[in-house]
Amino acid sequence: EHSPAPDPAPVDTHCPYCSLQCGMTLRPVPTDGGTGGVEVIERTAFPVNRGALCGKGRTAPAVLSSRVRLTEPLVRRPDSGRLEPATWEEALDRIAEGLEATGRAHGRDAVGVFGGGGLTNEKAYALGKFARVVLGTSQIDYNGRFCMSSAAAAHQRAFGLDRGLPFPLADVARTGCVVLVGSNLAETMPPALRYLTELKEAGGRLIVVDPRRTRTAEQADLHLTPRPGTDLALALGLLHLVVAEGRVDEEFVERRTSGWPEARAAAMAHWPELVERITGVPVPALRKAVAMFCDAENSMVLTARGPEQQSKGTDTVGAWINLCLATGRAGRPLSGYGCLTGQGNGQGGREHGQKADQLPGYRKLTDPAARAHVAAVWGVEPDALPGPGRSAYELLDALGRDVRALLLMGSNPLVSAPRAAHVESRLRSLDFLAVADVVLSETAALADVVLPVAQWAEETGTMTNLEGRVILRRAALTPPPGVRTDLSVLSGLAARLGWEKGFPADAEEVFEELRRASAGGPADYSGITYRRIAEEDGVFWPCPERAEESGFEGVAGADSENAEAERPGPHPGTPRLFLDRFATDDGRARFAPVSHRPAAEEPDAAYPVLLTTGRVLAQYQSGAQTRRVAELNEAAPGPYVQLHPLLAERLGAAEGVPIAVVSRRGRAVAPARISRDIRPDTVFMPFHWAGPGRANTVTNPALDPVSRMPEFKVCAVRLELAEG
Ligand code: SF4
Repeated sequence: EHSPAPDPAPVDTHCPYCSLQCGMTLRPVPTDGGTGGVEVIERTAFPVNRGALCGKGRTAPAVLSSRVRLTEPLVRRPDSGRLEPATWEEALDRIAEGLEATGRAHGRDAVGVFGGGGLTNEKAYALGKFARVVLGTSQIDYNGRFCMSSAAAAHQRAFGLDRGLPFPLADVARTGCVVLVGSNLAETMPPALRYLTELKEAGGRLIVVDPRRTRTAEQADLHLTPRPGTDLALALGLLHLVVAEGRVDEEFVERRTSGWPEARAAAMAHWPELVERITGVPVPALRKAVAMFCDAENSMVLTARGPEQQSKGTDTVGAWINLCLATGRAGRPLSGYGCLTGQGNGQGGREHGQKADQLPGYRKLTDPAARAHVAAVWGVEPDALPGPGRSAYELLDALGRDVRALLLMGSNPLVSAPRAAHVESRLRSLDFLAVADVVLSETAALADVVLPVAQWAEETGTMTNLEGRVILRRAALTPPPGVRTDLSVLSGLAARLGWEKGFPADAEEVFEELRRASAGGPADYSGITYRRIAEEDGVFWPCPERAEESGFEGVAGADSENAEAERPGPHPGTPRLFLDRFATDDGRARFAPVSHRPAAEEPDAAYPVLLTTGRVLAQYQSGAQTRRVAELNEAAPGPYVQLHPLLAERLGAAEGVPIAVVSRRGRAVAPARISRDIRPDTVFMPFHWAGPGRANTVTNPALDPVSRMPEFKVCAVRLELAEG
């Protein structure tokens, strides 16, 4: 345990977990009683959550003082084969040697780096720079690939720019109709539910698309329950009806889009009865959805992991964007398409260079001008920068073969990656694995060196929430002795590998460089400073240093809804995008001519049931942190298999009996939870746990061809009664 910082003043900061990045205030308190040295108090001034927190955020300080957190480096000893305590010097030396020796023996691309969507912008930036400049490897990607990559790819394709929500979340409460596709935000980000409640109180309508009746679906005016993996067909069926019922906004389509004839033709091939057969959603429900969506003056479609985590995720999101474009519900206030990003820095994490194909500022690694700009900031030749590397699953799949040493930061792929038993065997086959984490996660337990790093309340850094709002997480505590920050780790490793300069451990110094690296790029942060974020409680990108320097004039628009954008002086940031033009070369949004196709693995006689996976209220992602919090564990102690009574009866399963969910990749066993809230052809498992109930042992790593997103949301399984 450690002492609070000398100054006991409360500190305004943000939750360590999801993309809502709820504001909270931390008050240092004595550390007895396992409080973690700070208590959470409400911060109503932050506009996104206005003081509300879910149980995960409220209990986050418990991980700070958890007995199982790491407080000294661990090195695997050859004699015992065990991880044993070591000094920082020894641990960093071992990593530097391990990475260098592998690169020397097998080539630079034999060294891999795996990051995380929970890392701050500064860490994501420094990690990408470290990989490409110090290690000279192309092999870097991160777990955000498993989170939002399909929506990001669809966003880029349609609008020329990817920002999860191109409008503030508060706009959701002011629109007329929201279609929420594959999001259970009542459990994943509960404070956001208020916006839907306010929408309904103001007379707006909510349509939820989800194969399960979730806490979110319970709030819906209309709940559509498509068969998993058929969201694309559903969106096409709705667009077909929009055309057939004469509800296309021809003027908008003509003035602000391209590609409509092809998209229209694709939709017309998906007539409602066919869509009913594919999805299981009755035609009258399709008609009702179209009426709700189109009768409202303004409407939105918001997607989350349901439609995105599919081997056709990019096209599926594209189909929902098509619906918005055809009805003129995009590029104007209070209407549009948005993605509810999952991880804390799911947005910022994909903008600063830890993604396999990107450079800071959301620039393309293959763009010569982008390479030249970033190389100049980094003080290297553009030709010295490697090209794009493998995507997250492909990188994990290459471990022990093409990629023989790995540095991993802020991720626990042994629980969160698809086909996890295979990923585990790949991790075990590495010549060298180094992991930086706050606890000995399942992945860290396999490492040759483990570094204990600081937690959210012990270091300062910026995050970018699901709205593109850049916020400041401030330190309220000093880290315990023996613990260092991720930035300090990268600084120490870079120095050992010949880069004494260029990798400062100070977050603000890193951010200043990030500003320059991002200047002029799509995600331009050059006008954002720590001081501005503190004064304004967050700034929306793009925010060039000077208003006239924006590479995206008109994207922000001069509409009264963006009134701040009109004032002279420093650029005000961009709460709303695309009001006058989209960020494509010609300013027009692009329809995607997409058609239905089946999931990579459809049920058959051997594997007749569909599995879908997801999250529960009291746990977060791989559970590395939340499984260490007693209150959360009590609320959600382990995995389960949700199944319909008809399926349970066929199997002869009673409530609570262990059920084996078996796919071509492996088997997960968890107690039955029998419920009418799920389709009879589908079972659901939450994925937060390791061990025999690890849902990702079963999931399918089939990848979307564009985004390289694995198909977490649908695979074919059979059910068996497991031995009690
Ligand atoms: Fe934290 Fe997300 Fe919960 Fe807010 S909703 S308290 S950001 S986990």
